[in-house]
Amino acid sequence: MKKIIIAIDGFSSCGKSTLAKALAKALNYGFVDSGAMYRAVTLFLIENRISVQNIAAIEQALNEIQIRFQAGSTGNRTYLNGVDVEDKIRSMQVSELVSPVAAIPIVRRAMVRQQQEMGTEKGIVMDGRDIGTVVFPDAELKIFVTADPEVRAHRRFLELQQKGQEVALEEVRNNLSERDHIDSTRADSPLKQAEDALVLDNTDLNQEEQLQVALDWAQERIQAQVL
Ligand code: C5P
Repeated sequence: MKKIIIAIDGFSSCGKSTLAKALAKALNYGFVDSGAMYRAVTLFLIENRISVQNIAAIEQALNEIQIRFQAGSTGNRTYLNGVDVEDKIRSMQVSELVSPVAAIPIVRRAMVRQQQEMGTEKGIVMDGRDIGTVVFPDAELKIFVTADPEVRAHRRFLELQQKGQEVALEEVRNNLSERDHIDSTRADSPLKQAEDALVLDNTDLNQEEQLQVALDWAQERIQAQVL
């Protein structure tokens, strides 16, 4: 059976990674959370006190940053220069700075290059903001995920609470709308729906239901490869 590339894009906290992960597991494909890569770069800049205005220092930092993913007992973990940073990159501190960092063209260029290398063998599900438009414009299946903003804020709030992070719903709501705004209005690779993407609104769907919709689409596209 020929393998395909599945690109999943959409606004912040609309369940893209959950869907991508489940889809990859069901198809026995690789999974890449591209947002984790921008988060890891952001964490590096914070820890090394590099300002988002200091492009020369960021360029230098990009040469020193090595990001990889490794499966752990609690799922896929993100490693920054050999250290597991999965929990740190999900903090509000990183969430507050990641969109300005991800809007910097040299950062995007470095991440996109690595993401494209991960897809050379196909058999991959990648989620992000520009996967179907920039990273894999020829992906066999592109899904654009949406959900009601209030539902997204609640889901994210619960997720952070479960992780023991002290945040107010208002703070989460503001962070999501701020990131959505920056991500969709930036000059370089703004978040937008690819013309050939299929839209999946999961406001009223549970995880199993949204997986089933996406799996049906994927199987249809995989079978079309064989013909
Ligand atoms: O997916 P997640 O919400 O973790 O992504 C964090 C941030 O990384 C996004 O708000 C966006 O600014 C950036 N991002 C991006 N392009 C991607 C994935 C994420 O610009 N492909």
